[in-house]
Amino acid sequence: MRQYLEVKERYPEAMVFFRLGDFYEMFFEDAVDGARLLDLTLTTRDKGRDDAIPMCGVPHHAAQGYVSRLIELGRKVVICEQVEDPRQAKGIVRREVTRVITPGVVLDEDQLEAKAPSYLAAVVPSAGAAAGMHCGLAFLDVTTGDFRATELAGSGALVDEVARVEPRELLQPPGEPAAQTLAPLRHAFPRLCVTLLADPPVAAADDALLLETLGARAAELGLGPLAAAAAAAVVRYARGTQPTGRLPLGRIVPYEPADYLVVDESSKANLELTRTLMSREKRGSLLGILDETLTAMGGRALRHWLAFPLLDVVGIRRRQDAVELLVERAGLRTKLRAILREVADLERLAGRARLGVATPRDLACLRRSLERLPLVAAALRAELHDVLDPPALLDPGDDDLADLARLVAHTLVEDPPLALKDGGVIRRGFNADLDELVDIREGGKGQILAIEARERERTGIGSLKVRYNRVFGYYIEVTRSNLKAVPGEYTRKQTLAGAERFVTPELAEYEAKVLGAEERQVELETRLFDALRREVAAAAPRVAAAGARLAALDALAALAEVAHTSGYVRPVVDESDVVDLEDSRHPVVERLAAPGGFVPNDVRLDPREEQILVITGPNMSGKSTVLRQAALIALMAQMGGFVPARRARLGVVDRIFTRVGASDNLARGESTFMVEMRETAAILRYATRRSLIVLDEIGRGTSTYDGVSIAWAVAEYLHDVVGAKTLFATHYHELCALERVRSRVRNYNIAVREWKEEIVFLRRLVPGGTNRSYGIQVGRLAGLPRAVISRAREILTGLEEGRGEMAMGKAQLSLFAPPSASGAPPAVGPTPVEQQLLDVDPNTVTPLEALTLLSDLRARLRQGN
Ligand code: ATP
Repeated sequence: MRQYLEVKERYPEAMVFFRLGDFYEMFFEDAVDGARLLDLTLTTRDKGRDDAIPMCGVPHHAAQGYVSRLIELGRKVVICEQVEDPRQAKGIVRREVTRVITPGVVLDEDQLEAKAPSYLAAVVPSAGAAAGMHCGLAFLDVTTGDFRATELAGSGALVDEVARVEPRELLQPPGEPAAQTLAPLRHAFPRLCVTLLADPPVAAADDALLLETLGARAAELGLGPLAAAAAAAVVRYARGTQPTGRLPLGRIVPYEPADYLVVDESSKANLELTRTLMSREKRGSLLGILDETLTAMGGRALRHWLAFPLLDVVGIRRRQDAVELLVERAGLRTKLRAILREVADLERLAGRARLGVATPRDLACLRRSLERLPLVAAALRAELHDVLDPPALLDPGDDDLADLARLVAHTLVEDPPLALKDGGVIRRGFNADLDELVDIREGGKGQILAIEARERERTGIGSLKVRYNRVFGYYIEVTRSNLKAVPGEYTRKQTLAGAERFVTPELAEYEAKVLGAEERQVELETRLFDALRREVAAAAPRVAAAGARLAALDALAALAEVAHTSGYVRPVVDESDVVDLEDSRHPVVERLAAPGGFVPNDVRLDPREEQILVITGPNMSGKSTVLRQAALIALMAQMGGFVPARRARLGVVDRIFTRVGASDNLARGESTFMVEMRETAAILRYATRRSLIVLDEIGRGTSTYDGVSIAWAVAEYLHDVVGAKTLFATHYHELCALERVRSRVRNYNIAVREWKEEIVFLRRLVPGGTNRSYGIQVGRLAGLPRAVISRAREILTGLEEGRGEMAMGKAQLSLFAPPSASGAPPAVGPTPVEQQLLDVDPNTVTPLEALTLLSDLRARLRQGN
């Protein structure tokens, strides 16, 4: 127990798997938690005593599955093994922590998503007066060594960046400023696994650590002080989880969030970039449509491009050039993809070699993949030799790693067994000593037969046998009737009923050789394999570089494949600020529609002329679809891919904002309206002239008048102050009047045709406003009872003619304005809220102030004053 408690003290947050014989046991609270989480039986040590210790265990051979489940639940696991042979240990068997597994540092393939990075991140806030305003963020994928860091201003930016990175675990330094900085993160990502660090960052120590592990100090690496502190925290923690202390670190990439298109957290979710809102699956998301990659590393590259779309026109065109060529040259694309299909995850294999956990099978797999590299290069060279100015990204590079492939091929057998302890990993002819050991083992049988034959002849005993058992080892057995022919140098060992058993010096010597051989073979193979693994580790940066090249190639070929099969075009991307899409489509909805069933639309936005499009149209007509489609197309273009349109021109967009359905936030305990207003406030604060804003029915979550007023004021502000390109879908026909008072507002509607009492959706975006909602028709489509539909018509007609009360009848009206008990109006005199309203001068208040005031008023009303 003492050993256990020591370990537990070092890792208070982790569940300790403590090896006892064939089981890993958990004790105390770990046991209680473990039993509950893993569905195990809770027992006690020292049964029957009052202070009995709760305990539960899992068989060691099944531990992996249980560990995975705990990691998925966001727990950490410490594996504590017996490091002495229990038969030889004096007293208590020594145990040591052999592995620490945390959600941010997992290496087992079955716990990793192949096509997603596995980031361990840390956030370090600035200290002192500006606490919480600035922070450093660093994230490392321990499986590949992919390591990046940045500095951020404000908690909103932090939330957006964490949404972009999607770390599996986030480290938090001790202390109040860090707790405050991370509070919005915990709120935004309730499922994120946050680990509290014991030690605060110390600049000098951090610098030394970076120098030691990355070969340069923070300043030389281009890291600001906060980014450096975060990077050091990540390295220190990750190192602590590895018994070897080794990490696949090479370089760290500092970046500025503003160098990439920013898609804030809720827009990312609402646009369903990497997963759908409802089922949270990749299928049905934009990534689901685009990800035609064939390798895991290609999948990660594409996901990275989607998370970090470019702003730099040159960089975008560089990718476009490569995609275009791969679209045009179908033969090359097919050939490359056929080769890529056979390439394993070079980046993670290189990482495993550097971490010292690569198995014989890993290296054999590495070799097979490396052997494909020259094929890729040859395919590219053959195809591109006549291209005048071949795309830079399709350059095959000049390191085909043939030397490493040869080395592995030369050392390892073709198909090595899973584990070293089975032997048979190293190729024959690689090491003379090993060959001899193998000969002895394999030749054993033959040699025994030879001895037997020779002794039979020498003694003339035809029935003489050489045999083996565990007690005596090798022996010669002679039947009783032949005993007189036994030579003098035989030593008697055992007498049986009908026979005697003997040993000879020759047999004893032979036995020692054979029995030792097996053990020594495994030992020698382990040594040779370790040496190979070290050589591979030394070459790992080259392997990773080749992997990164193939990853990009795979991602480009995937974009080309989608462009080809779905009929996308290369958009003109430039420094202008227009969006001009001809016959554009929604990449996901199009895929779900019947072939040819999706109706393409033109979308044109220009801050000088058509800055804000107010789009009206009945429910279900396709407003949201056209809005999202414009946002997705801008993003796809800035990834460097082709887009679903007949023709497209896009000025680079710095941010995409969306304000659409808020269902995702309901779980966080905020009202729909509050979330909507918060998002709207953020848009008005951060949007620039180069941003693209997509607003889907803002102001919907409140009364019509409030809603219209807010929507109107927001639109005005976007027009007069911000100047961002905006698509504004609304049910409020009142907003169509904006076009008359603001020069760069245009009305559009999604056309429908009425046919008898039905509506037919034409899905066409056409200029002009509408003044009809067709809500009742849609209700009818949705199957509302006939009686309800006709009554609704009646009421609508009444309302339209200003006979609201008459149409609805007095009784129903009471629903909206409860009469006082006496039937007389309640006592008059302004309530505090009314008074506050009366105090406002609408001529001087700004739209933003109005917004703040509104949410203020609502809050007061909710509190009952
Ligand atoms: P609401 O106002 O009720 O939110 P909406 O006007 O935003 O509705 P969407 O959700 O965009 O409507 O579209 C409704 C459905 O219409 C989509 O799920 C899609 O199946 C279909 N649809 C939308 N646009 C098109 C189009 N251009 N071509 C074909 N089908 C479309």
